[in-house]
Amino acid sequence: MSRSARVGILGGTLDPIHQGHVEAALASRRAFALDEVRVVPSRVPPHRPAQPVASQYHRFAMASLAVNGLAGFVASDDELQAPGPSYTADTLERLHRNGLEASQIYFISGADAFAEIATWRRYPEVLELAQFIVVSRPGHPVTALPERLPHLAARMRRAGSAIAVPDQPSIFLLDAPTPDVSSTAIRERLRTGRPVTGLVPAAVERHIIQHGLYAAGVPADQLHGQN
Ligand code: ATP
Ligand code: MG
Repeated sequence: MSRSARVGILGGTLDPIHQGHVEAALASRRAFALDEVRVVPSRVPPHRPAQPVASQYHRFAMASLAVNGLAGFVASDDELQAPGPSYTADTLERLHRNGLEASQIYFISGADAFAEIATWRRYPEVLELAQFIVVSRPGHPVTALPERLPHLAARMRRAGSAIAVPDQPSIFLLDAPTPDVSSTAIRERLRTGRPVTGLVPAAVERHIIQHGLYAAGVPADQLHGQN
């Protein structure tokens, strides 16, 4: 990967990955001419509260299916391979060790997630490790962020203004029309037997149905009668 390549990172539990994730990543890729976007399911070790419903194997499989055929997109098992819970700061530092500079890395997050940045591990240092693209999400406009995070307002700039990067990594606000969908809503639809057509990529929908993921009474880890 050359020194000038721009790499987008879209992380999350991705339980499951859906069109909101895909559209946020596509809009980021277009707006910032990203050469590559890596979709990175996060690791949640077994003893942690708030366990994902689908196993990390299924979450990675669905991420792979979602990017299949999308030019410039890859699914990355980087966080699943690392020990412990996934923290963005650690992920970004691993990318640095692998030769990427902060100015090349574009960490993509939704406005709802970024609004909680002060609670992230190693805040505020984490902001020095990459450029951040914050994408609007229905109910979470990026225009609300400077007021919500006044101490960071000076570092925020609207996407489309100067993409050229000053000495310090920036927080780019990207107002993009992403669909009003969440993994929580998708899991609830599936639990109650409703279709998710159009809410997730078609290949992901087939995978979910084929493996009975998120259906009521069939936890993914009991498919073979264990536990
Ligand atoms: P859950 O309901 O389980 O929290 P989610 O839909 O929020 O799921 P996450 O895996 O939590 O999905 O999100 C990963 C990242 O993708 C976060 O930064 C989140 O803000 C962003 N994101 C998710 N959905 C959208 C969307 N529709 N538009 C823009 N960003 C989104
Ligand atoms: Mg979420």
